[in-house]
Amino acid sequence: MESRGKSLKPTRLRGTRAPEQLLVSRMGRAGAARGDVSLGTESKKGMVMRVIAEDETRSPTEFHCALCDVLLTPENNSREHLVPNGIGGQKAVRNVFCKTCNNRTGSAWDADLTKQLNPLNLLFAIKRDRGNVQAQDFTTVSGQQVRVHPEGHLTFLPQEPVCTQTEEGLRVQTRVGTMGEAKTFLSGMKRRYPKLDIEEQMRNLKMDRIYLNDPIFTQLSPGGPAAGRSFVKSAYTLAVASGVPPKICVEARAYLLAEDGVPCFDYFYKRDLVTNRSQERVFHCVAVQGDPATGQLIGYVELYSAWRMVICLSSQYTGHAFESSYAVDPSTGEEVALSFDLKFSREELRAACDSQDDYSGELLKALNAMMSIGYPASLARERERVLLRAVATAMERLGIGSGDCLQPEQVPEFSRIVSEEMTPCILHQMSIAHGRVV
Ligand SMILES: [Zn+2]
Repeated sequence: MESRGKSLKPTRLRGTRAPEQLLVSRMGRAGAARGDVSLGTESKKGMVMRVIAEDETRSPTEFHCALCDVLLTPENNSREHLVPNGIGGQKAVRNVFCKTCNNRTGSAWDADLTKQLNPLNLLFAIKRDRGNVQAQDFTTVSGQQVRVHPEGHLTFLPQEPVCTQTEEGLRVQTRVGTMGEAKTFLSGMKRRYPKLDIEEQMRNLKMDRIYLNDPIFTQLSPGGPAAGRSFVKSAYTLAVASGVPPKICVEARAYLLAEDGVPCFDYFYKRDLVTNRSQERVFHCVAVQGDPATGQLIGYVELYSAWRMVICLSSQYTGHAFESSYAVDPSTGEEVALSFDLKFSREELRAACDSQDDYSGELLKALNAMMSIGYPASLARERERVLLRAVATAMERLGIGSGDCLQPEQVPEFSRIVSEEMTPCILHQMSIAHGRVV
């Protein structure tokens, strides 16, 4: 799979609001909620804070949904993933949203983001709590229709059959991706040609394993209001789970709660906000930082180490200084230890969130770095998958059960079958490594 530079059209999720207006609204209301936030302990980097003092909606023993404000009970309390589980987030928090809001935003916002990022969910073979990554159909650069499966392999989509009249009768040629599709195709043919012997045709079928030397064409540009709300929700969830009373997050709530809410975030590539970025690992992360000196509660969300967003959750923050974060490697589900530098002056934040900069070059650089990690990993997974399948095929053909030992006289035939089964994969990967078709 390749990310094609030319097809990349980053969608601006942010709306257009004049910087002056933004500043007035933030400055004008700063301090209105002073006294509402009280985080009682000194902050520690990365530590999730607890709410100590009460505000009108939230206390240590009584939580209200951070979206619809309903009282959370054991029956309606939900587990909300900090990063959507659909793209590989693992960690979930309670006491933030009710089940209704969790389900509603999950199926509207997170599902939209998950769908847009599905090519990468497949490439990175992400780990999910439940449900598989969806297989997806693609068109290759030369126009072939293929389906990529969660296990990493591809099948061709059924082609229009080619019919030729020969001396023996009508010859019908087609190509399908699986034996099941072959049976479906033959059943359709039998309705037209009742004399067709499906069983005989199935017995004579030959399955070829072909590797594509033809890059897949896909657009990678998550955008739109639903995906935008999913980004902001991640940072809002972490802030609330860290002890920030929901109503302090004025900008985030204005965007999340109103259909025409003004987006409170933008892509940010002016500097790297992750201070210990690994070049060997792709991650998703969400971080929040509250700074009473500036009154800002800033969120940062980065997905697949490429899409990087700064979010203004609140400009009315008066609690203690704190930072909280979560990062995960979507391929393994393991947490990643990251450090962040989210110190923005008011002016810098205003510029970041209202930036009209063309960041497509920086985004492309980040996408290329991501692909240079993800693509070799997907090739390694394919080698592993093919090797396991080759061994299983050889054992089956030699009649070796799972608990049986391979006898010395079976070794040459076993090796021959494994080698034969693996050859297309090896040749394909050699051709990629050497940049030519072998
Ligand atoms: Zn709710």
